[in-house]
Amino acid sequence: MSVAANNNSKQVQHYNYGFGSRKHLKGLLNEKPGYHLYVIDHYFKDKGSILDLPIQASDYVIWLDTSHEPKTDQIDALLNAARDSKGGDKPSAVVGVGGGSTLDTAKALANLFNNEGKAETYQGWDLVQNPGIYKIGIPTISGTGAESSRTCVMSNVKSGLKLGMNSDYTMYDQLILDPELTASVPRDQYLYTGMDSYIHCIESLNGSHRNAIGDAFSEETLKLCRDAFLSEDMQSDENRGKLMVASYLGGCAIANSYVGIVHPLSAGLSVVLGTHHCVANCIVMTAMEEFYPKEYQEFNEMASKANVAIPRGIAANLSDEVYQKLYESTVIHEKPLINGLGTDFKKVLTLEKTTELFKKME
Ligand code: NAD
Ligand code: ZN
Repeated sequence: MSVAANNNSKQVQHYNYGFGSRKHLKGLLNEKPGYHLYVIDHYFKDKGSILDLPIQASDYVIWLDTSHEPKTDQIDALLNAARDSKGGDKPSAVVGVGGGSTLDTAKALANLFNNEGKAETYQGWDLVQNPGIYKIGIPTISGTGAESSRTCVMSNVKSGLKLGMNSDYTMYDQLILDPELTASVPRDQYLYTGMDSYIHCIESLNGSHRNAIGDAFSEETLKLCRDAFLSEDMQSDENRGKLMVASYLGGCAIANSYVGIVHPLSAGLSVVLGTHHCVANCIVMTAMEEFYPKEYQEFNEMASKANVAIPRGIAANLSDEVYQKLYESTVIHEKPLINGLGTDFKKVLTLEKTTELFKKME
């Protein structure tokens, strides 16, 4: 294991945590004169009263359809529509309310109001030039760590690139972490998204690029995930509270380390077959006995305790051409694969090996 120096890491500056903490939003927004732009998961469209948001008539609200994960073109279109509707005026605050897809869309929009050009211009590392609009993140499902990470994942349909705007400017200025809001998450989605936290951290702790701060975040995240997913009721108030903290700390962990083998294979499934990120990770875990044997066992135990079936067979009977695409969109993720398997990772993850693994996900 190398004891690498961590990057000069930023953290979210302010957060409110606790049941009912969404009541603080009004006061925070009172300090921001002008209109506020909300990006809210469409699930809440006819359930607005649950959120109890202080939306004013002058505000601009996007009810985001999260049936598909964010795309660069979609973000450009949302930005243009908001600008047109407000005669070019910028909002004084952007508020994201939802899961990873919604939180990431809000982050991207906040950056683009203050940085010329399209979303795709900023896919990469440290390309954002100016600080974005002040933004507040309110997660309604726990696991991705999008609330505390420095990226916002988007797919570029034309180039096939699934990459976010990795930048300190992408981070939220303020979070409201209210576990009351995750009560309505369906059981299967709760497990899939929650497992993203667990998987990020087992990949980091099994990698070679590590440092003590990243390890500490990862270890605490895993402890909280185990508490929740190995208990009798993963969705109890107490466990939803724990998982919200796990998600937050998991996002901090990733800022200090890299993922490993699961995420590149999962990205292959997302890019080639359109599988959503969190369920794709769980599908990949079913083929990971060889690489992460202890965690493979534990993952199975958690899924069975949750009584949630992981979808099977999505990559079982594909053409050679599709397996080739899956291979290419896996091995393109060099940093995590070097972290997980070393610089010679292509000797382990050959086309034959990735095909065997994808078939194992049957
Ligand atoms: P999501 O935002 O895609 O939402 C998943 C589903 O849960 C949707 O159907 C949504 O309507 C529903 N939902 C959300 N909250 C709910 C609630 N309280 N009650 C009922 N239903 C609710 O889910 P996700 O898994 O959190 O996010 C996945 C996205 O996050 C992907 O696009 C992935 O690439 C991204 N991601 C980002 C980061 C990052 O650091 N920025 C890290 C990992 C993943
Ligand atoms: Zn992930």
